[in-house]
Amino acid sequence: MRIQNGYKRQFVAKGTTILTAKPFAYVLRSLYRNERCDYCLQSSKYRTNRCDYCFKSGKIFRCSGCRYVYYCNRTCQQNSWPVHSKECQNLKRISPKVIPDVARLMARIIVKLNQGGGEEVGYYSETNYRKFKDLMSHYSDIKKDEKKMEHFTCLCAVLFEFLADTPIPNSAELIGIYGRICINSFNIYDYMDMSSIGVGIYLGASVIDHSCKPNTVATFEGTTIIIRTVEDIPCLDWSQIRISYIDILKTTKDRRTELQNSYYFWCNCERCEEPEPLAEAAACPNKLCTYPCCPDTDVCESCNTKFPEKFRETFDEVSDFTAHHLQNMKNIAYLDVSKVCLKRQEGILHSLNVQHVQTLQTAFDSSVILQHWEEAESYAKRLINGYLTYYGEIHPLTGILYLMTAKIQLHLKKPKEALEVIKKASAILTITHGEQHTLIQENLKPLLYQATVEGVS
Ligand SMILES: [Zn+2]
Ligand SMILES: [Zn+2]
Ligand SMILES: [Zn+2]
Ligand SMILES: [Zn+2]
Repeated sequence: MRIQNGYKRQFVAKGTTILTAKPFAYVLRSLYRNERCDYCLQSSKYRTNRCDYCFKSGKIFRCSGCRYVYYCNRTCQQNSWPVHSKECQNLKRISPKVIPDVARLMARIIVKLNQGGGEEVGYYSETNYRKFKDLMSHYSDIKKDEKKMEHFTCLCAVLFEFLADTPIPNSAELIGIYGRICINSFNIYDYMDMSSIGVGIYLGASVIDHSCKPNTVATFEGTTIIIRTVEDIPCLDWSQIRISYIDILKTTKDRRTELQNSYYFWCNCERCEEPEPLAEAAACPNKLCTYPCCPDTDVCESCNTKFPEKFRETFDEVSDFTAHHLQNMKNIAYLDVSKVCLKRQEGILHSLNVQHVQTLQTAFDSSVILQHWEEAESYAKRLINGYLTYYGEIHPLTGILYLMTAKIQLHLKKPKEALEVIKKASAILTITHGEQHTLIQENLKPLLYQATVEGVS
């Protein structure tokens, strides 16, 4: 620690935990909306294979009261009881109907606030804390937002039935609670599963603003949030700490639209203010040239190769075709569809064009699901440059992609290659997650060991 200009300035190296906290309220992802049908909610696999209290998977047993949630053991059930006791009766009463996750989270918050939860504090530094009421609700934005209000009205109907004999706040307060959930909730991520397994409200962490080029990341150990720095920070000033609220593998236009629609602000971060020619770049007609060309140009600025006539039209066709299929594959990726898109993109979209990278992502995801390991490995190798470009070198997802690649290479009996890739994964994940994280201890280390042993034999 050094004193500068009379202020305490504490240098924070990348890979430092700056905040660890338990959630104010949270729920395991137990249902999801079927995108093909607005009326049907499907049960997520997490409800029946993870503990509703600590989110661990493994051997679990069902709550005999509601017969809806599952726990690891008695301890988890007892720990969950203050929050679950009222809920357990309600779940049982409305059965066989079930309650959507957001409504369940809202119900938990209402019950908690009724019990004095509004006084709970979440510290983000030694002296600074936030209470639930300090969270931004964007009340007037939500009220003006037709889609959100429609959702809110549906939620209320569910809540009134679910919370039958519980005092429910008036509608203005309910909108306030709903708004705080929309704006401040974190997806509780299991990086090994590459998916969000729950949603939580973290009082202290909610102080952190967004950037598309963040200097910290949020990781989770069970339901505990861990905020770690991914850059060296000259001094721990909370007004300068940034995380990303959204997936940043997107063009500036798409990121800004999503942030505006979901969080009601226009992003002016460093990355949004910079031109991003790569994101929408065309491939140079000269196959040997890797220069990212502007789709409107006539000749490549780097090698002077002339573009074919009406190239812009072809480019737009391929781009629209890709956008259409990516939208359809939002929830489930299909390998054949991804391949058709990749084929059409050949020689038209630059290899780091966002749409191309997103298509490689669906190709990779679907080949993993189908256990087509050779294909999965080749897509992973092509995908990594996109990750390095858009997520950055030190990002949990970049580390996980390396780790997945290594796992696939071990399947394919390529331990030497796997070992090299695990080392890259390790260099990243020890910064984003920390040496002690379960991801390192229970996933990375065993793979490292396996690759080392198989590599010598
Ligand atoms: Zn548990
Ligand atoms: Zn129960
Ligand atoms: Zn931005
Ligand atoms: Zn060129």
